[in-house]
Amino acid sequence: MKNLIEDIGVIGVEGEATEPMKVSQEQNTGKSRKLYIESYGCQMNFSDSEIVAAILGKAGFDTTSDPSQADLIFLNTCSIREKAEQTVRHRLHHIQSYKKKKPEMMIGILGCMAERLKTKLLEEEKIVDLVAGPDAYRDLPNLIDQVDDGDKAVNTFLSREETYADITPVRLGSNGVTAFISIMRGCDNMCSFCVVPFTRGRERSRDPHSIVAEATDLFHKGFREVTLLGQNVDSYKWSEEENNKARLEKNGINQVVNFANLLELVAQVHPDLRIRFSTSHPKDITDEVLKVMARYENICKYIHLPVQSGNTRILELMNRGYSREWYLNKVERIRTILGNECGISSDMITGFCSETEEEHLETLSLMDLVQYDYAYMFAYSERPGTLASKKFPDDIPAEVKTRRLEEIINKQREHSYLRHLQDVGTVQRVLIEGPSRRSEEHWQGRTSANRVTVFPKGNKNKGEYVNVMIERCTSGTLIGKIVE
Ligand code: SF4
Repeated sequence: MKNLIEDIGVIGVEGEATEPMKVSQEQNTGKSRKLYIESYGCQMNFSDSEIVAAILGKAGFDTTSDPSQADLIFLNTCSIREKAEQTVRHRLHHIQSYKKKKPEMMIGILGCMAERLKTKLLEEEKIVDLVAGPDAYRDLPNLIDQVDDGDKAVNTFLSREETYADITPVRLGSNGVTAFISIMRGCDNMCSFCVVPFTRGRERSRDPHSIVAEATDLFHKGFREVTLLGQNVDSYKWSEEENNKARLEKNGINQVVNFANLLELVAQVHPDLRIRFSTSHPKDITDEVLKVMARYENICKYIHLPVQSGNTRILELMNRGYSREWYLNKVERIRTILGNECGISSDMITGFCSETEEEHLETLSLMDLVQYDYAYMFAYSERPGTLASKKFPDDIPAEVKTRRLEEIINKQREHSYLRHLQDVGTVQRVLIEGPSRRSEEHWQGRTSANRVTVFPKGNKNKGEYVNVMIERCTSGTLIGKIVE
């Protein structure tokens, strides 16, 4: 059998994605100008790029997948680690060659790096014409006009209201089966290592009616899975009183919608629409959410629950708001209410300020207790402007960080294999997302627990649910065959 091992998404490690995770696709609706957009970093950024494409679609731009054909190139950037920003600076040097051939081409930087650096980016990168932060995308047509008039343009205003709820995203590089829906923006947690509160602002939740409408619209367009996105979905909270006095006066009901309520509303769109969500926060996830997940078969049994460290003193320095015991208790609740089959993944930072060897070993022992399906693991990268950069010296030597990271990665690889192995010999319900990356004769999809599964196509089509008998696995892929 051809080597089908996809090995995708097994373990996210240091050495940030150097390739953009998403690129705009070819669109020809006869609009006069062409937009090329590359998205880096988290799913929130991909979802934002789809909102940007929609806003510019109304301003006379079609998207293109060929940067040399573009009138406007946007890089939607990540600032979570130094390496992520270096990746963008390298890409700008590469884009220079397109601008040389097409001097009228416009270059813009969006996202967290734009918000963090603001006008400084124009000084440091002369090729850049436009800088817009995550809350300024409605202003893009105006900023483009300014550049057309020969000026540089910047808008990095952070809003307390903006959720782009009324904008229907243009699905970029979509497989036509799965889609992201952003349910909130910003983050009110102040984890000491994180730039997000500074680059994405205060938390605000989107009107649940617009979220249900978007999920319903996607279902009717043939999508069969949506992922609800937020920096911390568990703190989603929306009320008429705070957000829609008019409807309150009309209905007289102050509807308050928390994340468990929202999850239920979206799950009721249609039983064949699968629901996923990311990212949860250990200090805020509730039994109410877990019980709603247990009640609906179409809510996938998978939770991304970043731990960051297994040691309580380090968690305090990180200002994570929970202890090692609290976290393990949350995992216990998940296992009790959703069973051992439920997939759990995590984020981990190794080598945080003053982390001792014993405290590092506590992260390894916590991993033994939880046994994650997979994890995104990084060595601590000090970010300018964060609480940690102001309060704690980045005092763990690079070689120690690297060695500790390797130990965590090796342990995770063992656990990923064990978690996938438990599915061998079982029949899993899989949603077909598209052809396997490694074989045109094989489909690829994911189980409810978010495990990538590869199997011969048979007479099935993309977007269909199939039952797959799992015959073998790797640490990142289940391999099997369709059974009726
Ligand atoms: S929860 Fe913490 S790590 Fe996550 S985005 Fe918010 S501040 Fe950053």
